[in-house]
Amino acid sequence: MNTTTMMSEDGTGWTEAWSVKVVTSEMIPRLPRYHDIGPRRYKIIRVPAMAGGVALGETSIYAEEIRLAPQINNRATARVFLHEDIHAINEEYEIELTENQVSRLANGLCASLQALGFYPTELKLAEDP
Ligand SMILES: [Zn+2]
Repeated sequence: MNTTTMMSEDGTGWTEAWSVKVVTSEMIPRLPRYHDIGPRRYKIIRVPAMAGGVALGETSIYAEEIRLAPQINNRATARVFLHEDIHAINEEYEIELTENQVSRLANGLCASLQALGFYPTELKLAEDP
């Protein structure tokens, strides 16, 4: 939401005019079905059951899949996908980040790239409605 400060109509003071950017469902960027990282081609999918049952996403280098939980919204999908993508990069390039380091890097990168407008605040998978 952007605000613009302007003189009020009666000229007695300042008022704020609000402009709301309307985002329709069709405007939300959609991930491709496959994503190449290093030598592997990862399939990006939603799966109902995660390992442990509570995770919002998981990455399997063996199955070459980035999996996201079905119940997360488009905003969470953007964040969780980036987290899982860093897991895949971590494995493919043998960086040896811990789970905590992956989380912190993903959160920082997500905030930074979104502030620059280089990464969407909402994201859909290819298979999403
Ligand atoms: Zn993780």
